[in-house]
Amino acid sequence: MKGLKTFPRGGIHPHGNKNLTNSKEIVKADIPGILVVPMAQHLGAPAQAAVAEGDVVTEGQLIGKAAGFISAAVHSPVNGTVKEIRDVFMANGMKSSAVVIEKEEGFVPAEKSKSDSWKDKSAQELNETIKDSGIVGLGGATFPANVKYGVPKGEKAEYLIINGVECEPYLSADHRLMLEKTEAIIEGLRILKKIVEPEKIAIGIEINKPDAIEKIRKQAEAENFELEVVPLKLKYPQGDEKQLIKAVTGREVPSGALPISVGCVVSNVGTVNAVYEAVALEKPLYERTVSVTGHGVKNPGNYLVRVGTPIRQLIEASGGMADKFAKVVIGGPMMGFTVFDLDTPVTKGTSGILVLTDREVSGGQRTACLSCGKCVGVCPMGLNPTKMFKYIDHDEYQSAMDTGLMDCKECGCCAFTCPAHIPLVQGMRLGKKMGRKKVS
Ligand code: SF4
Ligand code: SF4
Repeated sequence: MKGLKTFPRGGIHPHGNKNLTNSKEIVKADIPGILVVPMAQHLGAPAQAAVAEGDVVTEGQLIGKAAGFISAAVHSPVNGTVKEIRDVFMANGMKSSAVVIEKEEGFVPAEKSKSDSWKDKSAQELNETIKDSGIVGLGGATFPANVKYGVPKGEKAEYLIINGVECEPYLSADHRLMLEKTEAIIEGLRILKKIVEPEKIAIGIEINKPDAIEKIRKQAEAENFELEVVPLKLKYPQGDEKQLIKAVTGREVPSGALPISVGCVVSNVGTVNAVYEAVALEKPLYERTVSVTGHGVKNPGNYLVRVGTPIRQLIEASGGMADKFAKVVIGGPMMGFTVFDLDTPVTKGTSGILVLTDREVSGGQRTACLSCGKCVGVCPMGLNPTKMFKYIDHDEYQSAMDTGLMDCKECGCCAFTCPAHIPLVQGMRLGKKMGRKKVS
């Protein structure tokens, strides 16, 4: 289709593999007997446990207090008893304290009913509810949502842009949400309109989801809700907030600046649904939609999952692993993390669990850089990945940072396209970590 908007610089077109799950309705996953709920599920300071071993907890009860401005509260996903508080490893390899809860026997999740009482609340009160409900960006970034929605004094949000792009291959949880929770999403947008006070609201959806484009557009029209639905050309990483802003508005967020510097606030469509649930259903964030997919799992599907559920259980619910699986990834194949422990719990940031076969795992022997420049051509941030990697390889972290390392989104376009199979993204991640250490 000609004339579709997209971001102009770099980007790639990996095989989507969305057809494994994009027609699979979201089903409620079984709730395990033991749930391991980490305190560090978000960007910023980990929450501090607000319960102790032996405490009886109820579904939705605060079990972790936000520990600073950039932090998020954590809530119990079930009625049960705190068995212990211990350290666990997260998908990204970081350690986190976690509250281990044994589910009460015969536990039945509470039914939530919709209330309109939020309409009498002020913008500040509503954002406070979002904060107290532990809402974070569900697209994977897990940035505390209330901080994003609290537009600083003197700034103005011209655009509230909703991210319905879901450009990572395989994942379809957001696609299904747009189809199955359309009314909730529009109500969530009404809530955000009151908090953020944007001049315009737009939702960007890639053209491989024509049913979602149609459904959202029709629902907004039926409710007389002013929403610009922007169909976008397929291109990865369009779900990155800077690329999405560029695609929808043509504006460029400067290096090191936030979207509000160009009058934009961006929020993922799953987060909008979570905002609706927090405000209109008074339900904190303790479950989310997860795609369990890849050719290494027998029956891929989409699930509504309680935080703290081991990924092993979801793989089993999807028919278990096929004989020839090569690796398990949490998140998408481009930006996700390979996990080795199937007891790793689902967290607020878990958008997908991929079980991939050898055929799906791009491999190949690493060779010396061919100086082909392909990585430079596909970098959406206009960086020089090969140059930065060489600096990092020689422990010259400051030089890598001076070359723009901190602007790297770790999107993986460079590594995907590199014919020499150089682990460019791993290099960028390491370089950032080491660079930050040197500076602090
Ligand atoms: S991972 Fe970083 S360097 Fe590589 S393409 Fe993405 S933004 Fe550019
Ligand atoms: S794509 Fe790979 S081989 Fe080509 S210049 Fe970049 S790092 Fe070197």
